[in-house]
Amino acid sequence: MNLLDPPSRWHVRLAGGGLVEVWADGYAIDGDSYVFDVLVTATPEYQAKVEITARTPTAPERVCVAVARIPTSAVEELHTAGIGPDLDCACGSEEGPGRGGVL
Ligand SMILES: [Zn+2]
Repeated sequence: MNLLDPPSRWHVRLAGGGLVEVWADGYAIDGDSYVFDVLVTATPEYQAKVEITARTPTAPERVCVAVARIPTSAVEELHTAGIGPDLDCACGSEEGPGRGGVL
């Protein structure tokens, strides 16, 4: 399986205050979950072992694969996070819960 593009970095603030970091191209709401996915090329054998979220009819090896599924009821807020050498994000997550961060 090969990623086609560098994924984006997402911050998912949980209702309980925790923070989940997900690297993915994007997300969609599927029923009662946020489903994050990445666009990849993968053989049919590989595709049979993962959750496919979207297909490209003209290019069967090009599919979107789920990388995280998080119940919407558990999520307070989510946003794209900064990408850089220090991985700072405007939400202040680099301080992190339990490390003196301001939530
Ligand atoms: Zn953030």
